[in-house]
Amino acid sequence: MSRRQCTGQYKVRPIKEKVRELLGYPHPQRIPTGVHVEQWIGISVDEFHRAKDADVAYMKNRFPLIESGFSRSDCLRMLRSRGFGQTPKSACLGCPYHGNAQWRALRDESPQECQDVVTFDAAIRSGNARATAEGKPLLGQAYLHRSRRPLDQASIDRVTAHEWSGRQGDIFDALADNELENGEPNGCSPRSCRSGTPIQAAQDLAA
Ligand code: SF4
Repeated sequence: MSRRQCTGQYKVRPIKEKVRELLGYPHPQRIPTGVHVEQWIGISVDEFHRAKDADVAYMKNRFPLIESGFSRSDCLRMLRSRGFGQTPKSACLGCPYHGNAQWRALRDESPQECQDVVTFDAAIRSGNARATAEGKPLLGQAYLHRSRRPLDQASIDRVTAHEWSGRQGDIFDALADNELENGEPNGCSPRSCRSGTPIQAAQDLAA
């Protein structure tokens, strides 16, 4: 897995820009002490370790699911009772932490979005264009699928137990069946990236 800026650039940055706009102090204006928004983040009790304070004084985080003692299964039960039977984990469409189950769902249920992601996958093959222009090219090639194959050529259909037994020595053996099939178990939010590593938002956003 290479270095990612996805959460910082696609989530943290736009949210901070919007919050500053709502408060009436767009970047780089200084926000007076005591002026802040309350940001509610949906982390459940079984993920409490992902609940963190905001890194700026103008945002105060609250975790209503934790405050209410809601676990992931409590959330799913409540959603089902309100007619939302199939609620997927929150994540970007083209997340490299997806397992085959998520890739199949995208292919089978959202063909247009799947095509967008296939196009995105092809576009990242040489890494970040700006980094390359700055003389720091990607050493190798980037892929969204764990097999390091183009997404539209990767094996994403479910593999039967019989087929697994016939794949001795295949690189997929090194990846647990469950990980390849289901991907990263956690969803992703601006303050709790599913990779589990701390989010490093761009320095100019910390102000
Ligand atoms: S879901 Fe999270 S880790 Fe995955 S691409 Fe989106 S921001 Fe990155």
